[in-house]
Amino acid sequence: MFDLLETLVKENKKYIKYGNVATYIPALAQVDENQLGVAIVDLRNNNYKEYFAGDYNQVFAIESTSKVITLIMAMMDNSPEYVFKKIGMEPSGFAFNSILNMEINNKPVPSNPFINAGAIVVNSLVKGKDSNERTKRILEFTKKLTNNPDIDVIEDIYLSEKRTGDINRSLAYHMKGCNIVDGDVEDILDSYFRQCSISVTAMDLAKIGSVLANKGICPWSNERLIPMDICTIVKSIMVTCGLYDESGDFAVHIGIPAKSGVGGGILGAVPNKMGIGIFGPALDSMGNSIAGVKMLQQLSKNLDLDIFE
Ligand code: GLN
Repeated sequence: MFDLLETLVKENKKYIKYGNVATYIPALAQVDENQLGVAIVDLRNNNYKEYFAGDYNQVFAIESTSKVITLIMAMMDNSPEYVFKKIGMEPSGFAFNSILNMEINNKPVPSNPFINAGAIVVNSLVKGKDSNERTKRILEFTKKLTNNPDIDVIEDIYLSEKRTGDINRSLAYHMKGCNIVDGDVEDILDSYFRQCSISVTAMDLAKIGSVLANKGICPWSNERLIPMDICTIVKSIMVTCGLYDESGDFAVHIGIPAKSGVGGGILGAVPNKMGIGIFGPALDSMGNSIAGVKMLQQLSKNLDLDIFE
C-alpha cells in the first residue's frame, strides 16, 4: 500500500501545473502549490492501519472541509430536523460563495450546508454564547475526531479571511435581514472565519474520514463520537454537495463520499473501509485540489472503493 501511495503522488504531480492556489484569501496565495500528499486510515479486515505518502504531514488550512465538522455538531447540538428547517440539502448549481441559491423560488434559504451561506447558518447553530465559545467547542471536537491535540486556528489565515471576507459578510447580513440567522452577525462571521482557518494535515482528514466510515465510532479508541444517523446524513450530503459543482462528476467517476476545501484538502469516507485525506493546494476551476481529485480517482479504481459499484 505504501508503494501504491508513493506512485500515486509521483504520477499525479504533473497535474499541479494546470491548477492554481486560491488567491482570494491573501494568506492562501502564499502556500507552495507544488505540494501533494495522501493519507489513509484503513479499517478493512478489522485491522487498523495508517498509510501515507508525500506531504501527508504538512499543516494547512481546513477551509470548507470544516463544514463537515460543524454540520455534525449543529445536528448533535440541536437535531437534524431543526438544522434542515433552516437550510436545504440540495446541490446548489452555483459557486460556493454565491448568493443566487437563496433567490430561487423567492425562498431565501441556503440550498445546502456545504455552500458558504449554509455553513454560516450551521456555524450559528453550534452551541456557544459567542465566537470564542463556539470556536473552543469546534476545536475540541476536531481534536477528538483527529486524535490530534495540536489542532488550532492558524492566526494569519484567520486574520486574512476576516479582513477580506466581504462576500461572506454580505451573505450573512442578507440572511440576517431575511431572518435566517439570529444574533450578532459579526460574531457569527468571526467563528465561521476561525472554523475555516483550523490547522490540519492530510492524516488528520483521513482520521475524520475514518470515524465517518466507521459509523461514528473512533476506530482507535472505540469511543462513539457521532450518532449513526448523523453520520449517514453527512456522508449522503458529501456525495451530493461535497465537491461544489464537481460533485456529480466526482460521484460518477470516483464514487467516494468526500468534502473539499480551498486550502487544498479533500476528506474522503469510504463506508466500512477507510478514511482518506488529501492535500494538494493547486486547485481546479471549481476550487477542488486538481491533483488530489486525480489521485482519488486512481485510488478508487485500484482499491475498489466506488460505493456505487
Ligand atoms: N473560507 C473559505 C470561504 O469562506 C472557504 C471556502 C472553501 O473552502 N470553499 O470562502
